[in-house]
Amino acid sequence: MKGAEIEMEPNEPLSAEDAIAAYRTSTTEELTRTARALTERIHGKGIWVRGLVEISNRCRRNCLYCGIRRGNEEVVRYTMSGPEVLSVVERGVGRKIWSFVLQSGELDPIKTDDLARLVESIRSKWPDIALTLSCGTLSRSEYRRLKAAGADRYLLRFETSDEKLFAKLRDRSTLKRRLRALTDLKELGYQTGSGFMLGLPGETPEIRMGNALLCKTMECDMVGIGPFIPHPGTPLHSARSESFELTERMTAFVRLLLPFAHVPATTAAGTMDERGRERMIMAGANVVMPNITPQEYARHYFLYPGKSVLDEKMENFGKRLTPLGRELRFGRGDCLKPGEPTINIKRSA
Ligand code: SAH
Ligand code: SF4
Repeated sequence: MKGAEIEMEPNEPLSAEDAIAAYRTSTTEELTRTARALTERIHGKGIWVRGLVEISNRCRRNCLYCGIRRGNEEVVRYTMSGPEVLSVVERGVGRKIWSFVLQSGELDPIKTDDLARLVESIRSKWPDIALTLSCGTLSRSEYRRLKAAGADRYLLRFETSDEKLFAKLRDRSTLKRRLRALTDLKELGYQTGSGFMLGLPGETPEIRMGNALLCKTMECDMVGIGPFIPHPGTPLHSARSESFELTERMTAFVRLLLPFAHVPATTAAGTMDERGRERMIMAGANVVMPNITPQEYARHYFLYPGKSVLDEKMENFGKRLTPLGRELRFGRGDCLKPGEPTINIKRSA
């Protein structure tokens, strides 16, 4: 049977209602095909490369789902030194990477100063690279300090749009506080990424829909979506994972809602399914984040099990994109400033 087409016309804004209707009534094939075409039309065929550096696995929080939570005593804790991070960035720049993400557990306030100094030293050496931080919920003044030091983007997933589930999973902290942090980041002029996990225990289809819609309400510049993968060293060790098709459908849905956002094909997707990142790209993702953390550290940064700890060969991943008609793209890859989206989507027979 030929799938019904989801038609896209220029010059008419896409409403959330239309995207929801398409999500509810279309097959996965239809949804992903539409999202992919939209992505290529707006972002082209290039897949932006961001080098991910896991600078520290120390964390003050105890999120129930996360392998490096404070309470996991099995974890060998590390913090990379400034010179070590600089040399990783230098090697990345030598491999054409022009956009870096420094990620860690949630920082203690006292560590923010160390991070700011590190950001300053990276920035003074490479004034033009894009520098993203992903170090948890911090105070507005800490974010301000890091911005002044030279950070230009921040990734902070809200994880789930359900207040009760959020509080249960994240140390009884509140969703409201997390969203305020995102607002602070935006107001301070960061390009701001958020997103959520898929298939958390207690998540319902309504919550899932709410997750995607919250990304739209927050007008995220970037949206990270990752399947939840139970970690044996956490209280959620025996939870079950959802099918990968859900990640494909949600990626496509988010793309329809936020045509201009950057959407990474996440490591968690690549961990859950051997072709997970390709499948996310075929559903509307346009970014990859190869892990360039030195192996001696990356092997202690297990948010979830099964994560590849090898410094990935980007060239190999580039080759895997060729059959999809896509290619790696190097550069800052700043967020697009579109004004109003101009995509119309409606169904026809
Ligand atoms: N400490 C920071 C950043 C590091 S965690 C923070 O919490 O924001 C980065 C992301 O890893 C989290 O946002 C979460 O969505 C994801 N993550 C953590 N545990 C996971 C798991 N078990 N399965 C899949 N993704 C997970
Ligand atoms: Fe810490 Fe982030 Fe893991 Fe929560 S998800 S325990 S804040 S590293």
